[in-house]
Amino acid sequence: MSSCIALIVAAGTGQRFGAERPKQYLDLAGQPVLRRTVEAFKRHPGVSAVRVVINPAFRDLYDAAVAGLDLPEPVAGGASRQDSVRNGLEALADSAPDRVLIHDAARPLIDDATIDAVIAALDRHPAALAAVPVADTLKRGDGGMGGGPDGGLVTGTVDRSGLWRAQTPQGFRFPEILAAHRSAAGLELTDDAAVAERAGLPVALVPAREENFKVTTPDDLTRAARVLDSALSDVRTGMGFDVHRFAEGDHVTLCGVRVPHTHRLDGHSDADVGLHALTDAILGALCAGDIGSHFPPSDPQWRGADSALFLRHAAELVTARGGRIAHVDVTIICERPKVGPHRAAMTARLAEILGMDADRVSVKATTTERLGFTGRGEGIAAQAVATVRLPG
Ligand code: MG
Repeated sequence: MSSCIALIVAAGTGQRFGAERPKQYLDLAGQPVLRRTVEAFKRHPGVSAVRVVINPAFRDLYDAAVAGLDLPEPVAGGASRQDSVRNGLEALADSAPDRVLIHDAARPLIDDATIDAVIAALDRHPAALAAVPVADTLKRGDGGMGGGPDGGLVTGTVDRSGLWRAQTPQGFRFPEILAAHRSAAGLELTDDAAVAERAGLPVALVPAREENFKVTTPDDLTRAARVLDSALSDVRTGMGFDVHRFAEGDHVTLCGVRVPHTHRLDGHSDADVGLHALTDAILGALCAGDIGSHFPPSDPQWRGADSALFLRHAAELVTARGGRIAHVDVTIICERPKVGPHRAAMTARLAEILGMDADRVSVKATTTERLGFTGRGEGIAAQAVATVRLPG
């Protein structure tokens, strides 16, 4: 199979956006825009590697945005976007990939099908770009935009037939686009397809999706968040239940918080019933087995383990599915210790482990009116419900 590298152009300073940092480093539904863009290409089977072109002044933001993604060293961009792309292509010259996909960091909603289609078009053409046909009627104005509510006067209607709006990725056979960019150095062309056109390369139009818009304004960022949110339409509910018995000791661990008590809870790990019930609830929402199947009690490595590890694992499974935990609710069932004084700390700890807002995390407590094993003070039970949203 031929090699295909995705070159993500993230060197802009985003002055038009007016935020405190370049827009590619802003948060979009819990992740930096750039990270979402990089991950879209990294997980695509047709892409062999991802390389990012950055402004070195924002190296710290870049490192934070792509932490853990195991990317090669980023390329330093140039004065213009065209210079940045050329630097990126030059950096790839030694590895000489067969193909390169050049993509704007600020288009985080790129979908697999469009990437597929651009790669496939390169079997037939030396260059191809994602684009959408112009649907709106086009008007030419007289330029009277200054002041007042009007945008000026119409001087004519532009024939839109055959017009497309260019997006990215723009894909190229590598040697051809490298040569084209070298010969276009110093010119100001609007995109890489224009560089290819100037070199006489036929460029194919690949119909893409409106959702692959470029995040240019704060409104675009809100719109992108809405698109991502509405994509999580598969809403799941899972429940979990757990019990541990008391043994000799001086404290229990409940929902990740150490609570002084006349006994400890007996168990293989730290016996945190709250975290165990919640871990099972999340696994249940994913139909992913139970805590025992992921962390067998027979395995000595979990002896005395901090149960936050189990809960974090369950949360990571949700993230790996492209989902989000919308809400969790834990009920602790015992006569003693009293949970009330520790409730706020428990809520905060769960929110921290799960990376959720505390207003989506509930911890409750009840007794069983001195009935049953919890009523007799033989142990503590906990139940939990988790609501998980997955891509529909
Ligand atoms: Mg347990």
